[in-house]
Amino acid sequence: MARAQQYDLLVVGLGPVGAVLAALCATLGLRVRAVEKDTAIYKLPRAVQIDHEVLRLLNFVGVADTVLANSCPGEGYEFVNRDGEVLMSRYPPPGVAPTGYPWTNMFHQPSLEAALRGRLKELKHVKVDLGAKVVSIKQDDDGVVAAVETQRGTERVRAAYAVGCDGARSFVRQALGIDMVDLGFDEPWVVVDVKLPLGMRRLAKVSIQLCDPAQPTTSVPSSPGRHRWEFMLRPDEDHAEATATETLKARLAAWVDTDSIQLERSAVYEFHGLLARQWRAGRIVLIGDAAHQMPPFMGQGLCSGVRDAYNLAWKFAAVLRGDVALPFLDTVQGERAPHVAAITRGAIALGKIVCVADEAEAAERDRKMLADLAAGRPPPFPSMPYIESGVLDDRSAGKPMPEPMVAGAGALRVDDVTGFKPLLVLANGDAAAAEVQAFRARFPGISVASLDNAQHGQIRVQDESGWLRRMLGDAPALLAKPDRVVFGTASVERLGEQWDAYLRGTLSLPGSLNSAKPRPTPR
Ligand SMILES: Cc1cc2nc3c(=O)[nH]c(=O)nc-3n(C[C@H](O)[C@H](O)[C@H](O)COP(=O)(O)OP(=O)(O)OC[C@H]3O[C@@H](n4cnc5c(N)ncnc54)[C@H](O)[C@@H]3O)c2cc1C
Repeated sequence: MARAQQYDLLVVGLGPVGAVLAALCATLGLRVRAVEKDTAIYKLPRAVQIDHEVLRLLNFVGVADTVLANSCPGEGYEFVNRDGEVLMSRYPPPGVAPTGYPWTNMFHQPSLEAALRGRLKELKHVKVDLGAKVVSIKQDDDGVVAAVETQRGTERVRAAYAVGCDGARSFVRQALGIDMVDLGFDEPWVVVDVKLPLGMRRLAKVSIQLCDPAQPTTSVPSSPGRHRWEFMLRPDEDHAEATATETLKARLAAWVDTDSIQLERSAVYEFHGLLARQWRAGRIVLIGDAAHQMPPFMGQGLCSGVRDAYNLAWKFAAVLRGDVALPFLDTVQGERAPHVAAITRGAIALGKIVCVADEAEAAERDRKMLADLAAGRPPPFPSMPYIESGVLDDRSAGKPMPEPMVAGAGALRVDDVTGFKPLLVLANGDAAAAEVQAFRARFPGISVASLDNAQHGQIRVQDESGWLRRMLGDAPALLAKPDRVVFGTASVERLGEQWDAYLRGTLSLPGSLNSAKPRPTPR
């Protein structure tokens, strides 16, 4: 007989990804234990950019507004050569994105992590243990057992499932013997965050990659009152020396009056492009940096990890309810890995443009990029991919569903009402009543919204921008997964049949490591 588990889920590591996963799973009613080896939030410089889709997802755990209040909208991204010529650039379109949030947001990762930890304290069903390090993890047919070193001594924690959200050097990944596929990038950079005095004029409003072979440099306006610089290091450069105050100031002097700023924090990182070969072993799953790492040139490492957490959380709840079988958890890798791999390749491609230290090679790069620009050839800016696996094959499937407001309900978003569940959107709430009723009976808990003629029990949608109507096209209905990736647009009956096939694992998953539909997204 199966032994009763102390917890439904053990979350190892409480960085941003583990904190989001723990909060989401607790919101879904799972009994969660989250353990984190450190007591304080990681202080060194990391993410500064979060995109609108991820901000919208963070709304499900109640921290999007806090992040938004402590961030500035991103105003553009330029690659500039030593002579100040713009080799390529991308600027966000005017207005807000289809999710209702600014396209890109320059934020402060520790503030996000603090907001998430605050939220975890408010949630029932989750027990957080700080200063608690997982030192062994094993599994059998019934569940997972971990040895956790705490200040009270070593404790055994049993859970039905576990997730390694324990970062780049993941203990869990190593314990499972899972290796990483190297996508081919390895460059050391020193990263420095500075605080700007109150009243100081904002430095450049756009993010800049200075493609100067003498000193490849990134300059990023980060959260209010802060600015980020990143400098590529020479292969022989001493890392401790690179973070010494005098060395940092010497580098910064090319950009700013160093007497007018305050050095806040700095660190040397090796930027890699790595992808775990396997994301699930039995009852244990890897997500976030434990499953993938990318250079920061697209500002997507944390965003990708948060997307993983949203892809995974509701699937655990479904497995625990017995709605789907355990192998269904492989859809996380099937859906997320091609997306992450495409973004990582894009980030590596951008890195290869800026990380050129050879004078002749840089001159040739500049000549070619400027010639292409003059000839009107598109610059090599990678597009953000869509999800290709675990979705239907219509033109909207795999894209993020726009987020409309609830009609007549002020600032209430549709996600605020549905919660973290699948959402069926009808073009006309009056049509196909029998099909909708059958759909609801088959998939209890799914929310239903409609653009026109909302009936009793349907959310009346206000789609002022028209994004959602355009996405529906001629289709009578759209089904979005809990993470708001569009499953497909079709008749309610077909969506029901295909969703059932997806949950039973019989929907073919066409994605592979090499495929992910590209899309134009401003950075
Ligand atoms: C310079 C730089 C710039 C970046 N810029 C961006 C950006 O602009 N946008 C973006 O989206 N991403 C960016 N990133 C990436 C982003 O910071 C990471 O992807 C993100 O922090 C990963 O989150 P995580 O929760 O997966 O891992 P982590 O944040 O590393 O958290 C893992 C946690 O697990 C804990 N842990 C480890 N082992 C154990 C154990 N055995 N037991 C218990 N706990 C354990 C650790 O203490 C840690 O708290 C950047 C990264 C760098 C380095």
